[in-house]
Amino acid sequence: MDGHEQYDAVVVGAGFGGMGAAIALNRLGLTNLAILEREDDLGGTWHVNRYPGLAVDIASVTYSYSFEPNPYWSRLFAPGAELKRYADHVADKYDLRRYMRFGTVVTGARWDEDAQRWVVSVEGQEPVTARYLLTATGFLSQPKMPDIDGIDTFAGRVVHTTAWDDTLDLRGSRTAIIGTGATAVQLIPEVARDAAALTVFQRTPIWVVPKMDFPIPAVVQRLFERVPLTQRLARKVSDGLLEAIMVSAVLHYRQAKFLNKGAAAASKLFLRSQVRDPELRRSLTPDYDFGCKRPTFSNSYFRTFTKSNVNLETTPIARIEPDAVVTADGRRTEIDTLILATGFNLWDVNFPAIEVIGREGQNLGKWWRDNRFQAYEGVAVPKFPNFLTLASPYSYSGLSYFMTIESQMAHLTRLFGEMKRRGADVFEVTEDANTRFLNRMTENLGDSVFYGGSCSTARSYYFNQHGEAALLRPTSTANAFREADNFPLDDYRLEATAAGRP
Ligand code: NAP
Repeated sequence: MDGHEQYDAVVVGAGFGGMGAAIALNRLGLTNLAILEREDDLGGTWHVNRYPGLAVDIASVTYSYSFEPNPYWSRLFAPGAELKRYADHVADKYDLRRYMRFGTVVTGARWDEDAQRWVVSVEGQEPVTARYLLTATGFLSQPKMPDIDGIDTFAGRVVHTTAWDDTLDLRGSRTAIIGTGATAVQLIPEVARDAAALTVFQRTPIWVVPKMDFPIPAVVQRLFERVPLTQRLARKVSDGLLEAIMVSAVLHYRQAKFLNKGAAAASKLFLRSQVRDPELRRSLTPDYDFGCKRPTFSNSYFRTFTKSNVNLETTPIARIEPDAVVTADGRRTEIDTLILATGFNLWDVNFPAIEVIGREGQNLGKWWRDNRFQAYEGVAVPKFPNFLTLASPYSYSGLSYFMTIESQMAHLTRLFGEMKRRGADVFEVTEDANTRFLNRMTENLGDSVFYGGSCSTARSYYFNQHGEAALLRPTSTANAFREADNFPLDDYRLEATAAGRP
């Protein structure tokens, strides 16, 4: 171990999750930290994604840390660049840059039983060691490249939405976009404005509901700044609405089917108001229930397909040739630019995003894939001591990622606070607590649209390779916070080891 840099904690990822974890650790008095980040700057998804049209699709009063409200959001749904600036502000205010190492690709981490520390491998550098390891690698951090015949032979420009080239000028281009997920919903209206011809290749339609977006007037920003209670109230209203649409309608489908059916009806009505052609409407209407896939928000998406330069193509893609996309019926669409809005791979390469080896050589990714994806309260796994996995099965609150982050910060605070009281330096969740949690999540999922509704045609990334919808935490957001503040402390084995003594 000698010669390796030693930290109290290593956090992998300098996005909002990693920064939240570092803030919580600082508050607990842990200041010898390293935040290792593969990109060249902080902000996670808000640093990586720069495609035209990028904006939050959860109202900004909700999509931000509750303890660090930003009174200056320019719109109800802030553009992506503002989120990046907000991330910079948080890093500065909480003095987190001192911990960050950019361009640092973590390849894996291994628990050293003798030293009772994590040994973290870093590409091209010496490993570092840490008493605690926290992975905050996000859910949507491993872009998915479509496996389409001939794609490598395409002679024009190919760009994945996560690697947007700011010099890309689409004016007058013949562009194809593959994909119709939340990213494409934001991107398509923007590309349609510039391209001479845009063909959108849709495999599965998406539910879209109107986005009640508007600029936040300066007078309201000043009010938010001077009377923070007003912004807190605005947040409460926004949280309530989102809890109904994104959580209750989806996760409590059995009890609140009317919310789910109401959202689907609203989307259909909205589509009818934007698209007159019944054939086009049919093509844009999902045949699976609302919420099987993450619903999206846009006022201009549906309407864009009525423009004369835009074509919706629903025939499957057979192959790509140097100058064209060829569909299964043999038709060629000649293009010069190909945009891949094909999303992310979660279950094969992102859970976990790095190789993590715990006690008795247990490989977390292999164990999850061979058994079932699971993590106690969405943060801890038996046989992985002193490890909190923040992008985990059952951790994601459907409401806002910041709810996930803050409930995890609360969990961390309760756990580390108790260790401090007991003079412990090693924690490990018990098998029993983990199994109880998994069983409860499995049972709760029975109420969700995933199992109670019709999702088989959705091709949703919420489902893993075992057919389980193991991404979202199937409880209310309030329950996630309640449990983070009150989980039984006996659910963890806490130990004071000789290695932990100063
Ligand atoms: P996504 O939802 O996974 O969508 C990927 C799209 O690409 C799907 O329409 C998919 O079709 C299609 N696709 C993938 N491989 C294909 C292939 N080989 N052939 C044809 N089509 C293919 O990814 P995303 O749109 O990037 O969104 C991911 C998540 O990011 C969202 O759900 C949301 O949580 C988040 N997001 C948030 C914001 C925001 O808040 N501002 C913006 C964008 C994204 P199938 O459905 O048929 O597989």
